[in-house]
Amino acid sequence: MVNAQLSHLIELQEIDTRILEIGRSINDIPRRLREAESSLQSSHDALKKTEQQRDALEKKKREKERALDDANEKIVKLKSRTGEIKTNKEYQALLREIEAVERERSLIEDEIIALMVDADSLQRQIRAAEDDFRKRMEEVEARKKRISEEQERLETHLLSLQDTRKKIRSMIDGEIYDEYIQLIELHRGFAVSEVRGEICQGCNMNIPPQLFVEIKKNEEIYHCPHCRRILFYREPAA
Ligand SMILES: [Zn+2]
Repeated sequence: MVNAQLSHLIELQEIDTRILEIGRSINDIPRRLREAESSLQSSHDALKKTEQQRDALEKKKREKERALDDANEKIVKLKSRTGEIKTNKEYQALLREIEAVERERSLIEDEIIALMVDADSLQRQIRAAEDDFRKRMEEVEARKKRISEEQERLETHLLSLQDTRKKIRSMIDGEIYDEYIQLIELHRGFAVSEVRGEICQGCNMNIPPQLFVEIKKNEEIYHCPHCRRILFYREPAA
């Protein structure tokens, strides 16, 4: 005849183990949500970096465009001076000066074209980075939604377990229950242990053969001589 108190204790331990596991899962949810958020960061950073590169390039291009305007102005001014020229020597000097500024202008134009090509390529990179960011954002939102749904399920499950626990707890004698709670606190949630092959599954120590014979009957509440856990025996599944 199985001890009724012992079988309630076994049930209580099973329930408490599940409550503990669910509690841990619920406690882990804020971390998982943060983790989901932070996976967006690198994608966001990549986008910002490319945008900064593009902005720097645009700034450089504007500077070059101003330099081009200056060069054009200079050429116009130089050319307007041809009327004042008296000698051929002065004229040759002016032409050389104009040619020099024109060469400079041509270099600036090349630079501007190169910058425009780079800006185009960066703009494509930005569009790709934006697409990537949007895609990841959607993934993160979906992931967060799944986590929240899981949280709801866990909380509902927890409530029903706590309900069942109350019923079981009401069937356990006060003194035995107090002892169970002390063991729960002592052994981090693990108070009732199976004995398998003369070994306490709580502390992995050997149970004396004579005590094991008694435990196998499950008629009394026995404690592990090593860890004090409440012991029970379960017939191995065939
Ligand atoms: Zn033990």
